[in-house]
Amino acid sequence: MSPVARFRAGAALLCLALGLPPGALPRLGAAESGKPAAVAQPSGAAAATQSLGAAAAAARLKARLSWDPLTASGVLERNGFRVSLALGSATALFDYRETLSLDPPFDPGSGLRFTEASVAALEQRFSKAEEARRSRFSVAAILIDPGHGGKDSGAVGEHSVGGKKIRVVEKELALDLSLRVYKALKARFPERRILLTRSGDSYPTLEERVEMANDVDLADNEAIIYVSIHANASFNKNARGFEVWYLNPEYRRTLVDKDTAKDVGADIAPILNAMLEEEFTTESILLAREIMDGLAAGIGAESPNRGVRAEEWFVVRNARMPSVLVEAGFVTNPEEAALLSTEDYLRRLSEGIYNGVADFVSYFEMKGAPAP
Ligand SMILES: [Zn+2]
Repeated sequence: MSPVARFRAGAALLCLALGLPPGALPRLGAAESGKPAAVAQPSGAAAATQSLGAAAAAARLKARLSWDPLTASGVLERNGFRVSLALGSATALFDYRETLSLDPPFDPGSGLRFTEASVAALEQRFSKAEEARRSRFSVAAILIDPGHGGKDSGAVGEHSVGGKKIRVVEKELALDLSLRVYKALKARFPERRILLTRSGDSYPTLEERVEMANDVDLADNEAIIYVSIHANASFNKNARGFEVWYLNPEYRRTLVDKDTAKDVGADIAPILNAMLEEEFTTESILLAREIMDGLAAGIGAESPNRGVRAEEWFVVRNARMPSVLVEAGFVTNPEEAALLSTEDYLRRLSEGIYNGVADFVSYFEMKGAPAP
């Protein structure tokens, strides 16, 4: 089982553990009259001034209170979230499934009251739920970025394999793979915006690529993911295999030092600065793993899996943008260059990337699905 799969299973178990049957709720009526027994305030004498009447508490919370005097219980509702409360009970039920501890609602004889602390706790819980709902994303856009282009050819591998001349140019390979991934994603997700930073032999600067990503209009609950496709090169002709990169958060502040810039290449260094605010590291790791799994399934028999890598990368400033970079293989390795020149291999490679992205989209949206 992959770490991702374990993570999913864990999340599902957690949901089950929190689940409570709606039948556990007190039945609520609309009775206006009836005298519940007075319940003294539990929080000490000073707290008398630190409490609010029911109407004031509901107004403060911008919530609607339905209270049934007969059962001495009720519900506070705000934006579809509900807290079930009972007079004198220090336990409330949030959205039918999560218990909350708070100062018990009390009645000193003049009507239902809530302590300031309990109102604050309720405010916090409502806000948290609303925030979680807002962060329930759908992947509305996928931006595929073929590396290099135009005057910037990227890495070039020239070999003679079995008497046959092979020339692999990174910008062409990146575009070829990107177009395949783009077409497959468009067919699978016709309702989403599938975008390319370039569709021909042009050279958008890295800043322009970042801008394209950031310029995509998104609603609050929509996300864009960014997949940059490159090929590798090494002075070591034996180096081969595929990699997927994401940014290690530890590295954020040290990314753009001179040595790093030299290591990753001048073409990449400017983009490093642009993504310091990237907050989607977790999602980027998951996206990277999904693509890695897809690639392993597609070409793992021929090309070594060099793994998911962090640290020296990269990308896009949008805080809601999981982003990764795929290094499809080494153009400097004769065998790999030969593979990267064959239709069947390119098809399986691009399918691997596509499958990884599609799996990530499913996972991302399933995770954000509303609780039952
Ligand atoms: Zn590159």
